[in-house]
Amino acid sequence: MSFDVVVIGAGIVGASTAWELRKRGAAVCLLDRGDVSRGTTGLGEGNVLCADKDAGPELDLAVAGRALYDEIEAEVGAPARIRRKGALVVHPDERTWNAEPARVERLRAAGVEAVLVDPAEARDLEPRLTGPMLGAAFVPGDLQCDPRAITVALAARVAELRTHVAVERILVGNSVGQGVDPLSVERGADAAVDARVTGVLLGDGSSLLTDAVVIAAGPWSAPLAATAGVHLPLEPRKGQLVRLRLERPDPQFLRRKVVDASYLLAVASADEALQTSTVVETTADGHVLVGSSRQRVGFDETVDAAVTDELKAKAARLVPELAGLEPDDAWVGFRPWLPDHLPAIGPTAVAGLFVATGHEGAGVGQGPISGRLLAQAMCGEPTDLELAPFDPRRFTSAVPAR
Ligand SMILES: Cc1cc2nc3c(=O)[nH]c(=O)nc-3n(C[C@H](O)[C@H](O)[C@H](O)COP(=O)(O)OP(=O)(O)OC[C@H]3O[C@@H](n4cnc5c(N)ncnc54)[C@H](O)[C@@H]3O)c2cc1C
Repeated sequence: MSFDVVVIGAGIVGASTAWELRKRGAAVCLLDRGDVSRGTTGLGEGNVLCADKDAGPELDLAVAGRALYDEIEAEVGAPARIRRKGALVVHPDERTWNAEPARVERLRAAGVEAVLVDPAEARDLEPRLTGPMLGAAFVPGDLQCDPRAITVALAARVAELRTHVAVERILVGNSVGQGVDPLSVERGADAAVDARVTGVLLGDGSSLLTDAVVIAAGPWSAPLAATAGVHLPLEPRKGQLVRLRLERPDPQFLRRKVVDASYLLAVASADEALQTSTVVETTADGHVLVGSSRQRVGFDETVDAAVTDELKAKAARLVPELAGLEPDDAWVGFRPWLPDHLPAIGPTAVAGLFVATGHEGAGVGQGPISGRLLAQAMCGEPTDLELAPFDPRRFTSAVPAR
């Protein structure tokens, strides 16, 4: 059987891409080696934030991505569990506070409603924020959603969804129908100049023929790209979250998403070593979710009890009442991370091979818009945003871009 496009990975990025392609009339096959949204998408906090960004292409993507959630809410309805509660970036520390007025101005210049508030105003917005602080930035339009439910809903709208089907490698040939060695693509050898996708090889040894493949396999995307000779310096960035149990569940226990300003520094850093910084909120079922850690240690699934303790202690500095709550769960996930902190969205050096990944800790907010932008580009439409900053070919100049 052949398809116009095979999309690998049914996380929020792949499901969004497949949905957008399908809306444009493409015969799409969406594949996942597991269940829909059971990769990174099923593990995070579901925040769609502009508050933690700064001027540049990622903020532009975040602004357009958050706006798209109006359409997602209309499309998916109540199961999307969209809660427009706003985000507070809290500053206990002068180092970040002194720089905040200028950053808030940059957010506003990019079209984000944002205000600086003093500690009393911050506590009006979030009464349990009784720890020491110098002030906060408030972004009222930020929201929280259920990324699993959204991904499941979007994937269900794609005509051909195949789960528990692993892709072993991308099949690449040339214009005269010969197979092309991925190594020659990587080296930029003449033989690979007209390298193009011909299909994908599946785990059971069968193949799907297609002229177009999208790799949206989250933190697992790099080895797949390598099977086509495409270099993507993507790594998993481990993140741990902790759930604290409220005796009486209360979704309004914390009214806002609360972010310690040091979180912005942790996201922007490229450190391999463990970093923890506070993000805290109530979950839709009325308990408290505390994050998060960042560490570049490969696919290490260990839940570290010391990290749980540290996350809880840091969160309690902002919200002292949390000190009395017990952790009832903790888990890790792997953010798809690229060294320049921008996702890769667009064509590769192999004709017909596209990539949509590398959204790190913001793929829920930016996944749907990435899917739309890629579908627009693949279908020859003008894109809502300039894709150049996200060009996957920025990591390899070996093969001439086509
Ligand atoms: C702790 C934590 C908290 C987070 N919080 C937030 C947040 O609040 N807001 C936000 O915007 N983002 C958040 N993120 C980031 C966000 O979850 C990711 O950026 C996003 O889910 C990435 O989606 P994806 O579709 O690219 O990848 P994934 O969801 O990982 O999907 C990739 C899919 O590809 C499949 N796959 C892999 N290899 C193959 C193969 N060979 N064949 C077939 N299928 C394959 C996998 O099974 C998987 O289902 C968080 C991440 C973590 C870890």
